[in-house]
Amino acid sequence: MAKLTIGFIGLGNMGGPMAANLVNAGHTVRVFDLNKAAVSELEAKGAMAASDAAECAIGVDIFISMLPASKHVKSLYLGETGLINLLDSKTLVIDCSTIDAESARQVGIELAQKGIDFVDAPVSGGVAGATAGTLTFIVGGEHRHFEKAKLALVDMGKNIFHAGDIGAGQVAKICNNMLLSILMAGTSEALQMGINNGLDPKVLSDIMTASSGRNWTLELYNPCPGVMETAPASNDYKPGFMVDLMAKDLGLAMEAAQQSNSSTPMGSMAKNLYTMLQHQGAGSDDFSAIFKLFSK
Ligand code: NAD
Repeated sequence: MAKLTIGFIGLGNMGGPMAANLVNAGHTVRVFDLNKAAVSELEAKGAMAASDAAECAIGVDIFISMLPASKHVKSLYLGETGLINLLDSKTLVIDCSTIDAESARQVGIELAQKGIDFVDAPVSGGVAGATAGTLTFIVGGEHRHFEKAKLALVDMGKNIFHAGDIGAGQVAKICNNMLLSILMAGTSEALQMGINNGLDPKVLSDIMTASSGRNWTLELYNPCPGVMETAPASNDYKPGFMVDLMAKDLGLAMEAAQQSNSSTPMGSMAKNLYTMLQHQGAGSDDFSAIFKLFSK
C-alpha cells in the first residue's frame, strides 16, 4: 500500500493509539494536540511533532481529526482562523470524531466550496479497538473520497463501511450507540432481577448468552462485576467508553430523532438513565456502570 503524509489532530484516548498505528504502518505522520504530553508520547513512537494545527495540516495527503465534540471540530476547520483557509486542495480531510450529522455536513459543504474533499468517519470499537487497529469505521461522503480514505483507515481498522453521503456516518454511528445503550440498560435490569431472585449472575449470563436474550453486552462486556474478568465492570468500571460520552451520543440521537420526526421511546429512556448516572457522579466511569442504577 502507498505510503502517505498524514496530519493527525486529537491524540486522546482514541486518537493517540490510532495515530501510533499509522506510524507503525510506515506513513509519515505529523501530529498535534493541545496537550503537549500527548504530542511528546507520539513523537517518541516515531511521529513528527507539529507546533500548531496549521503546521500539522499544510501540504499533507490526508488530514485526520479525532476531537471530543462538534464545537471543537467546527472551530478547528471553519471561520477566519479555521484550517479551511490553509488546507491544500489535494488534501482529503477525514473527521473521525462523533458529532451531529448537521455539523459534519456544514464542515463538508464549506470545505467543498474551497475545493477541499471531506468525509465523516466516526468509529466503533473503543480504546481496545483503537489500540489493536481493529476499529469499525462508518464513512459518509462521495465514493471516490471513501476509496481514498480507505488508504489510511485500513491501517487503523478492520471493518470499513460506506454509509452514504456526508453525515451518513454520523447517523449510523448514533443509531448503533442508541441501540447499544438500550441493550446495556436492559441487560443490567435483567441480570439484577435474576440476582434478586437468587440466581448466580454468571450462570444467568451463560443461559441468556445461549438463549434469545443474547446480545453484545452479555457476550463481550458484561455489566455485572465479577462475571467477566476482562470487562470494565470487573475493574471498578474504569473506561472503556465513558458515561459522559454515551450521554453525549444519546443527546445527538435525540436531536436526530426530533429532526426526522422519529419515535425513539427506548432511546429517550436510555438518555434519561445515563443523565441520572452522570448526576450521581459517574460521568467518568465506563458506560456499563448503568448496572449500578439497578443494584441494591
Ligand atoms: P479524548 O478527550 O480522550 O481526546 C480528545 C483530544 O482532543 C484531547 O487530547 C484534547 O486535548 C484534544 N483536543 C481538543 N481540542 C483540540 C484542538 N482544538 N486542537 C488540538 N487538540 C484538541 O476523547 P476520545 O475518547 O479520544 O474521543 C474522541 C472522539 O471519539 C469523541 O468524539 C468520542 O465520542 C469518540 N469515540 C470515543 C470512543 C471511546 O471509547 N473513547 C469510542 C468511539 C468514539
